[in-house]
Amino acid sequence: METTKCLIIGSGPAGYTAAIYASRADLSPVLYQGIQPGGQLTITTDVENFPGYPNGVTGPELMEDLRKQAERFGADIRTGIVSAVDLSKRPFLVTVDEKHQLLAETIIVSTGASANWLGLESEKKFQGMGVSACATCDGFFYRNQDVCVIGGGDTATEEASYLANLCNKVYLIVRRDELRASKAMQKRVLDNPKIEVVWKHQTKEILGDDSGVTGILLYHSDTKEEKKLDVTGVFVAIGHTPNTDLFKNQLELHPEGYIKTVPGSTKTNVPGVFAAGDVQDLHYRQGITAAGTGCMAAIEAERFLQE
Ligand code: NDP
Repeated sequence: METTKCLIIGSGPAGYTAAIYASRADLSPVLYQGIQPGGQLTITTDVENFPGYPNGVTGPELMEDLRKQAERFGADIRTGIVSAVDLSKRPFLVTVDEKHQLLAETIIVSTGASANWLGLESEKKFQGMGVSACATCDGFFYRNQDVCVIGGGDTATEEASYLANLCNKVYLIVRRDELRASKAMQKRVLDNPKIEVVWKHQTKEILGDDSGVTGILLYHSDTKEEKKLDVTGVFVAIGHTPNTDLFKNQLELHPEGYIKTVPGSTKTNVPGVFAAGDVQDLHYRQGITAAGTGCMAAIEAERFLQE
């Protein structure tokens, strides 16, 4: 059976950066790209906050560059979905596409997290054309415009505060009559004159035309009465789901499902298994932080193999 020194699961910025570092350290890493090659950034348009691109870059181009950079140093990048892992003994037995098996001396988990969506047809249609799940990534494009954020947790309130610095007006659309966010974040939102909380409302439809989003149609959670807001940006912030189904009962997870790592490192509770990127990140979820932890994971895997 094939054995690899370093298996990387996932192909976002964390996975590809781990592949760059692991190949340069002669670990001959094998990387399986997973369901969405390139990860979440492939569904965004312009990325203007990834250092090194003074004129910005599109998400797909950035991921293509990272892939090529990893391949240049010999990373073996494969299409395929890791369908099972056995972390009970080393080397770890890994099954790909439910048929092919290989052994891995170390594993870097970089399977990412997926933003939760409302599930509306119009939401899908306008993704990248006014609908976003990341204010830090896309807020800049809505300077001096009216936008809305959907959700009432820490992410939604943080995104609303961030957008209030850039936009003309921010509606925060909350389905209940209270926020789930921490008290500090609630206060920040409620004290901000640019943010208007629209209590007890949910989304019926996102409205738009060829130019992108032009508004949002809401309905009252109790009375179902409809209400339209004119906005050009809709930020959906109703939580993320880390892609950790494969590792349930094998790796220690946070209650929210993210992989637990030893603070300041990418080490999981299983020696030889490291986690990088959004799959272990409750707080930042940025391309650059994912890349940073991908680098850490590769260095830690190399040290682990040396020991
Ligand atoms: P949460 O699960 O905490 O909040 C999700 C929010 O979205 C809730 O207000 C929920 O409403 C709402 N929601 C869910 N589904 C729908 C829907 N279909 N329509 C409308 N609204 C909906 O997710 P977050 O991403 O905000 O936070 C995840 C974790 O990360 C939390 O533990 C949070 O504390 C943490 N975090 C911490 C930060 C920090 O410390 N700086 C920053 C960001 C996140 P309802 O309340 O009614 O269920």
